[in-house]
Amino acid sequence: MSNEIEASFDVVVIGGGAIGMAIAYYLKTASNACRVAVVERDPAYTLASTPRASGGVRRLFALPENIQLSNFSIPVYAQFAELMAVDGQRADISFRKGGYLFIVPTKDVANLQRNYETQRKHGVNVDFLEPDALKKRFPSMVVDDLAAAVHSLDDGWMDPYAALMAFRKKVRTMNVTLFQDEVVGIEREGALVRAVTLKSGSRINADSIVNAAGAWSPIVSEMVGQKIPVTPLRRFEHYFECEETIEPLPYVKDVNKLAFRPEGKGYTGGVPTLGEPRGYNFETDHDYFENVVWPALAHRFPQFEKTKCRNTMPGLYDQNDLDGNPIIGPWQGECENFYLATGFSGHGLMHAPATGRAIAELILHRRFQTLDLTRLGWKRVVENKPYPEQGII
Ligand SMILES: Cc1cc2nc3c(=O)[nH]c(=O)nc-3n(C[C@H](O)[C@H](O)[C@H](O)COP(=O)(O)OP(=O)(O)OC[C@H]3O[C@@H](n4cnc5c(N)ncnc54)[C@H](O)[C@@H]3O)c2cc1C
Repeated sequence: MSNEIEASFDVVVIGGGAIGMAIAYYLKTASNACRVAVVERDPAYTLASTPRASGGVRRLFALPENIQLSNFSIPVYAQFAELMAVDGQRADISFRKGGYLFIVPTKDVANLQRNYETQRKHGVNVDFLEPDALKKRFPSMVVDDLAAAVHSLDDGWMDPYAALMAFRKKVRTMNVTLFQDEVVGIEREGALVRAVTLKSGSRINADSIVNAAGAWSPIVSEMVGQKIPVTPLRRFEHYFECEETIEPLPYVKDVNKLAFRPEGKGYTGGVPTLGEPRGYNFETDHDYFENVVWPALAHRFPQFEKTKCRNTMPGLYDQNDLDGNPIIGPWQGECENFYLATGFSGHGLMHAPATGRAIAELILHRRFQTLDLTRLGWKRVVENKPYPEQGII
């Protein structure tokens, strides 16, 4: 007996991670009549990026679009427990407004200052700190080699897996159809995509198709002949503990890419590097913490001289090698009903709600209604005009 089906939807979203779920949620929120399906090949999310994320959410960006994506998304996560509640049951994602801190040496102060001004202009509650003030706020921190810092007080972190599960549970109650299957082909007729074909042999007709397949999005795009500059970039998230006491810390990030935050009895974080060869590599380098992360930690906080790495988890960034920013919008000039929401380069979780809303607006109204994200669209890729962050990212 065959399990094959043929179905029709207004929108089919490929990939049920944070991005795909947010798109489904905002489509249904804006239009209950919209028939939405999400195809996710692995509902256990064994290799997906979302559950492997560090959970940091911040407004500390240089580009207005990135700040605005955060300005919308972070309050959504702050209210997630209520927003995603089902049958009166709150969806706790352990949201902590613990703050976010960027620290820089002299050569990066001008950039930090410029970004700080942009952030202030966009309403971010952020303090600019000279080394003395920084030391006062975080007495354990070595500040001798630092020239300045910005401390974003309303940012923080949450539990990415809990957020994903909450999204999943919520969209089910909104009549989003979740298919457990793998998209293996996309049917295209001239300038329109028409349907996705699934590993099971099923076929789903769609008026619009969204590629929200994260690090696997280049493979999905290739199914319609689209080459995107997104590549899988491995990085490690380490959980480590410290024997000595440190005052409560925010999410700390330096220009050398050391980034970590408190988690339970210890800390979670790492040192990502763009020098990592691209590929679907889930091998764990057990020396990476010892060789790279630990020296950076101990340099900044002497207490970390004595630290123990308890767990190292590899995961993939959907890295946009053009400019490190997402590609949000239709495949202009080729297939206007094929949308991309990928290339988040380490920021996909914090930008998922605003991205979901943006894609929903594009599909339902053919243009952005709230945030204008035109500059993050496909055009810059075709024209090879990178739109990168300035300074530390
Ligand atoms: C170690 C690490 C730390 C990070 N820290 C942060 C952080 O602090 N803050 C932050 O905002 N971001 C962070 N990120 C980035 C963040 O995790 C991603 O940007 C985000 O999760 C991307 O979400 P997504 O839904 O696009 O991808 P995913 O969560 O990977 O979801 C894509 C889904 O598509 C499915 N899929 C793929 N191909 C197909 C197909 N053909 N058919 C059906 N399904 C398919 C996959 O199974 C997968 O579940 C981090 C990432 C890593 C690896």
